[in-house]
Amino acid sequence: MRWSKTLIPTLKEVPADAEVVSHKLLVRAGYIRQISRGIYDYFPLALKVIRKIETIVRQEMDRAGAQELLLPISSPAELWQESGRWEVYGKELLRFKDRHERDFCLGPTHEELITDLVRRSVRSYRELPINLYQVQTKFRDEVRPRFGLMRGREFIMKDAYSFHTDVEDCRREYDNMYQTYKRIFSRCGLSYRPVEADTGAIGGSLSHEFQVLAASGEDAIVSCDGCEYAANVEKAEVKGRPPAARDISQESPKLNKVATPGKKTVPEVAELLKLPANQFIKTLVYKTDGGDLIAALVRGDHEINELKLRTVLGCREVTLADETAVTAATGVVPGYMGPIGLQLRIVADLSVHGMRAAVTGANEVNFHYIDIDQERDFTPSAFADLRLAVAGDPCPRCASGKLQTHRGIEVGQVFYLGTKYSEKMGATYLDAEGREQAIEMGCYGIGISRMVAAAVEQNHDANGIIWPLSIAPFQVLVLPINYKEEKLRDAAEKLYRDLQHAGVEVMLDDRDERPGVKFKDADLIGIPLRVTIGAKGLDKGCIELRTRRDGTTDDVPLGDAVKTIVEKIAQAVQG
Ligand code: ATP
Ligand code: MG
Repeated sequence: MRWSKTLIPTLKEVPADAEVVSHKLLVRAGYIRQISRGIYDYFPLALKVIRKIETIVRQEMDRAGAQELLLPISSPAELWQESGRWEVYGKELLRFKDRHERDFCLGPTHEELITDLVRRSVRSYRELPINLYQVQTKFRDEVRPRFGLMRGREFIMKDAYSFHTDVEDCRREYDNMYQTYKRIFSRCGLSYRPVEADTGAIGGSLSHEFQVLAASGEDAIVSCDGCEYAANVEKAEVKGRPPAARDISQESPKLNKVATPGKKTVPEVAELLKLPANQFIKTLVYKTDGGDLIAALVRGDHEINELKLRTVLGCREVTLADETAVTAATGVVPGYMGPIGLQLRIVADLSVHGMRAAVTGANEVNFHYIDIDQERDFTPSAFADLRLAVAGDPCPRCASGKLQTHRGIEVGQVFYLGTKYSEKMGATYLDAEGREQAIEMGCYGIGISRMVAAAVEQNHDANGIIWPLSIAPFQVLVLPINYKEEKLRDAAEKLYRDLQHAGVEVMLDDRDERPGVKFKDADLIGIPLRVTIGAKGLDKGCIELRTRRDGTTDDVPLGDAVKTIVEKIAQAVQG
């Protein structure tokens, strides 16, 4: 491809709304442009990267035994009503009506459509297992589309769905996909980590996410420094420690009420009383989807994990109750609330169990209790693991490890679904005895367009993008310092042709621009190898080969250039 014939609208200015480096660089380097919130045009260079990633994904999915198909983007509401997700999915599901007033939606994911396809076309156990996948545009009307391609409303996903006669076979395929995903992300040159995950709106009971490690990642993940355990913090278990043995020679001091005028938050009261946050018990009131108010207790230095709270309460949704509702129901102003005498159902985190000399609100404006002895002074209806894991927590799996925290970008997720969809939608097969059985299912997604952003987050410097070779739009950029000079032009054109013949993906910068502009642009768009052709070098019969990642340069005799480049690419692909 010739630069002069390619639409690469580079910009000098960083877009004002761009917060993360991948968004800034992809816009500046002429890869993408936003046309509406979270909806982007992919320019030719971006599409090349996307196609490269898709090719790796297709090769590995095919190798793993999956078959590609293509489902429609729009789906009729009836299928979503059958699964129950028409009601559950909320505003992320973009719904519309056709001219006959029939309800439709744009697919955010395709469990319903694929389950329908399979129930209409698979009858017998002999036709199972199958794994069907597609690469397609998805639409999710995200509350906060942001970070460029990282969280769009319209984005490209590879989604796969597998169908089995029994749990064991489904679990085998889950592992097969897990290994396939590892190969895909490695081949794309990403540094990633598989972590245990919650199943969210998709459902099911077992799941892993593949997280690209990057400071700008929206997900918090924990990993053990002593074993393989790693989890999304939403899912990370916290090992409960039994309360310290009671020293009976030392009775707890009497419960004491102290004045804390105007001080409501843990840091404010901690500062006033000169006590550490981990001696506090925080009381948070949540409203469940059933409309109940529930008080949840955690230590002052911990945070509630709403997912765990939901599970413990057995409800679909919990939201922090608004202050007026709390005061109306309890007569207490939040900020001065505590468990002693509180007229609400109370659930408490395990670390609250057995706390002594603790501090909480006294359920009276401007007062807190100190010297609380949990076992003596109040009894919650349940103790459970309710908090977010933090760095330094003991590993829930091994005896000696400690948890570390990282940020991650979720680029893929695998789910074991069981019969969640097949039972609701009547997707069955006939077993060897002719009995009708529900099909076991798994599903497996990869965010193709999000991977483009994740790759840039991990691979850039102050001057621009540094593509991993396997997903770069081109492997080599041939850059004659002055394209108007015949000698340089001829040498560049010849090398360009020769590299193409050798099967190298190459772009020629044939623009009539100053060398400084060309070098800057070359760094910005991030092609891994650059060949500079200048008069001085040519006089010696050499070109300069530069590696974008480390900036190293080699003078290579013109006659050896193709061979050297081909070898370098082969090495990089292997290594
Ligand atoms: P998230 O938690 O980031 O919202 P998700 O868990 O809802 O994502 P899945 O349903 O697991 O997403 O979808 C499969 C993959 O699609 C994700 O792993 C992610 O890489 C990608 N993806 C999901 N939402 C978006 C989005 N808004 N923009 C770009 N890619 C996305
Ligand atoms: Mg996910």
